[in-house]
Amino acid sequence: MNSAVAMEATRRRTRAGADGKTSKQMEQTAQWGRAWEVDWFSLISVICLLCFAPFIVFYFVMACDQYQCSISQPVLDLYRGDTTLLSIWSRAPSFTWSAAKIYAIWVAFQAFLYMCIPDALHRLIPGYVGGVQDGARTPAGLINKYEINGLQCWIITHALWFANAHYFHWFSPTIIFDNWIPLMWCANILGYAVSTFAFLKAYLFPTNSEDCKFTGNIFYNYMMGIEFNPRIGKWFDFKLFFNGRPGIVAWTLINLSYMAKQQELYGQVTNSMILVNVLQGIYVLDFFWNEAWYLKTIDICHDHFGWYLGWGDCVWLPYLYTLQGLYLVYHPVQLSDAHALAVLSLGLVGYYIFRSTNHQKDLFRRTQGSCSIWGHKPTYIDCSYRSADGSMHHSKLMTSGFWGMARHFNYTGDLMGSFAYCAACGFGHILPYFYIVYMTILLVHRCVRDEHRCSSKYGKDWRRYTDAVPYRLIPAVF
Ligand code: NDP
Repeated sequence: MNSAVAMEATRRRTRAGADGKTSKQMEQTAQWGRAWEVDWFSLISVICLLCFAPFIVFYFVMACDQYQCSISQPVLDLYRGDTTLLSIWSRAPSFTWSAAKIYAIWVAFQAFLYMCIPDALHRLIPGYVGGVQDGARTPAGLINKYEINGLQCWIITHALWFANAHYFHWFSPTIIFDNWIPLMWCANILGYAVSTFAFLKAYLFPTNSEDCKFTGNIFYNYMMGIEFNPRIGKWFDFKLFFNGRPGIVAWTLINLSYMAKQQELYGQVTNSMILVNVLQGIYVLDFFWNEAWYLKTIDICHDHFGWYLGWGDCVWLPYLYTLQGLYLVYHPVQLSDAHALAVLSLGLVGYYIFRSTNHQKDLFRRTQGSCSIWGHKPTYIDCSYRSADGSMHHSKLMTSGFWGMARHFNYTGDLMGSFAYCAACGFGHILPYFYIVYMTILLVHRCVRDEHRCSSKYGKDWRRYTDAVPYRLIPAVF
């Protein structure tokens, strides 16, 4: 079908659904996905985020660079008249062509690995799922194919990093820290370019017009995305590439660069820096080991690709998820053994809960419930939903294991791990605790967003599930 005609047909169908049907009819034809109608609160939030998120990133990075990671000092100085916005701005390192070169080589290298080196690891490592994999069914009823090779890309990139640090010496391992703010301008350029490109592409040449969503509000469309799975050619998938690489592959390299900087400045690496590197390294490796599972998460299954994912993956993630390591370069905290052990235990227990919960759902869904969870056959609720092409599908919601304790216990584990990264930095400053505040907002909001979507997808079956598992994150509390 011609894409413009298909888009119009989809729009008309939705308008008819929103305007002319009884709630019972709506429930029967329930479809899921992003909102079509934008309320004022969402619109104001979107505009605030578009305006302020880049400044939040700049503020944190600048506070470390100019104020030894104090987030209150710049405000106090401005209030007292000791500095001006202009002088803060003029003291910040500006864009450099050498940073642009580093960044361009980095992104091009990751794109090359992603596109040109098919996964070989799934043939070598038993239990690892890589190579060509199916994604989840899209709202229009499609199932996309993905080349899963993130673990391989991560290993190649890190092998080269270590080979350079110990053998080739092409560049200093502190290269990322040394160019941190100039690189931020480059990441912003890419983040805005890719989001704008995805926005225009949705109008001009969408990958699958049936999976596009137009709300009629330009800001909301730009921020939350129009296309569901924008692609170039058959394999260059925007969501998989931008979320995993260059952002998450870079996460562990950025931490390694901070570690190298500590060594260079102080002649030693603190146990807090090692903890942050190890705990976040486990999280990143877990992501790539389970990249096929990631195809079934909300980012890929439900979110459209807009500024939220495009700019977020290029700028927000590498700059704010790594604040702990950056802080430790300026404040090399050496923790007592008891403190370090407590942080390590919290991080590992959080990781265990996060991974086991995600694994239970993955196993349950893959085997259609024919598996063992905590030694028993899982209990579940059968549910049905309809995709945009009108066909009916069936699914199951598990009510045992961690999924019987709370509806999002994986988020609880993630939050415990996130708190551990922050606590590794001691209690001298608030800045490293930004991450736990942000993750709490993100995951609680995600919880609400997901439940809203599941409710419109599964209708009364979802209500049966929430009756069976009444708590969201913490059993008996919330
Ligand atoms: P989930 O993995 O919890 O997926 C939610 C989806 O799972 C629902 O939409 C529903 O999808 C399905 N589902 C819900 N309840 C059940 C059940 N009882 N049984 C079977 N399936 C169920 O959410 P996310 O994709 O948000 O998160 C994945 C992981 O990634 C989490 O551990 C989270 O902590 C982490 N994460 C980390 C972030 C970070 O920035 N560090 C950001 C976001 C997430 P369906 O339509 O298929 O039924």
